[in-house]
Amino acid sequence: MYVVVRCPRCGELLLAKTDSRTRSCTSCGHRAEIATIRVLGRANTPGEAVELMKQLKAKAAGKEDYTPGFRRLGP
Ligand SMILES: [Zn+2]
Repeated sequence: MYVVVRCPRCGELLLAKTDSRTRSCTSCGHRAEIATIRVLGRANTPGEAVELMKQLKAKAAGKEDYTPGFRRLGP
């Protein structure tokens, strides 16, 4: 089984297998422990997982639901 998780450091969406304990972020290199981060979606096949990730990315592009730890003030 596969899960889609979000990197706790940079917010990048990552695809991870549930039988692995950690996942290194493809964007910032941060190694996240899958058990400790929020799972955004689950899939049974790699194809399903990729499709799910596309949907989540499209959703994230349309609506900002990710709040970074620190935010810049002003433009
Ligand atoms: Zn990252």
